[in-house]
Amino acid sequence: MPAKIQVSEAYCVELGEVVSISDARRAYFSQSEPRARYTFQCSYADCLALAKPPTITAVNYASLPQDTYRAAHFRDPGVGHVPGCHWQGEEPDVSDQGLGGEAAHKDREAKRKLHDFINEFDPTIVKPKDGKGVSGSAGSNPAQGRGQGRSGVAKGSSFSTRNRTSSFERLVEYYRNAHKDLSSNEFFGLQLKVTGEGEMPLISYFPNISKAAPGSPNRVIHGGARLEPRKGNGFMFWFIDRVDGKGVYLKVTSQEMDAYRFRGFFNDILAQDDADYFRVFGLGRLVLSETGKSYRLEIDDLNRLTIFAVKKKQPA
Ligand SMILES: [Zn+2]
Repeated sequence: MPAKIQVSEAYCVELGEVVSISDARRAYFSQSEPRARYTFQCSYADCLALAKPPTITAVNYASLPQDTYRAAHFRDPGVGHVPGCHWQGEEPDVSDQGLGGEAAHKDREAKRKLHDFINEFDPTIVKPKDGKGVSGSAGSNPAQGRGQGRSGVAKGSSFSTRNRTSSFERLVEYYRNAHKDLSSNEFFGLQLKVTGEGEMPLISYFPNISKAAPGSPNRVIHGGARLEPRKGNGFMFWFIDRVDGKGVYLKVTSQEMDAYRFRGFFNDILAQDDADYFRVFGLGRLVLSETGKSYRLEIDDLNRLTIFAVKKKQPA
């Protein structure tokens, strides 16, 4: 039976851009207290162009993510959309696109079981760093420029844009949910197209730190990590696993944090002092440190980094 389409991105009126639920959380926690809730609308261009765009409800984004899988998501009341809105209706039977029959079949069958899935990730689009329209200034006029030229708004009516994203947070969310909800056989069958690189197994794009290869192109390198005592506004992690017998660290300087508009999100997560360790996902590459004794995970942008506090379960 075809499943109803799940809304995985929505237009945030206050932020002035299309966001995933995880992007919304990152922005929400970067406000100073008291934090204001956001208003979301259907991101489909023709719906947004309406005098009264359809409202989308966001659930649980105002809670910090833990390494227990929470259920933050968008809920669509399904009212007021234009005919042909790509968030309406049921999941279509997608045809094989560029994949051999067997691989495509496994990929398709697995994705059918997920609330959200991504066929293509575009890492080349980096959101502007100047914080344009994102300073939480709810008083700015959201209607200004509606329907044209806004960053991140899906252009055209192609169905395929629903499952293509440049949101790193959404990609990580998809990976984590797929890992949780699918059998390992199904999980290993997932394929991902990476803009500029082509099609590959999702797991190849997400090497665990212990399997990350120095010299490889940018990958989402992830693993458990311990936080060094913080000095200043920056922070530093040592991954628990090693690469070629060498420790691997990730360092974010005070200057980088000060320049980052969503630093409040990282600060809140890092302040959870009952965390046993952190799970770090960073899109980047391993670089041998100057001393040659360790590797550094180098990321291009703090929007390409996400962190979860992990609390070990109490023994039953
Ligand atoms: Zn719509």
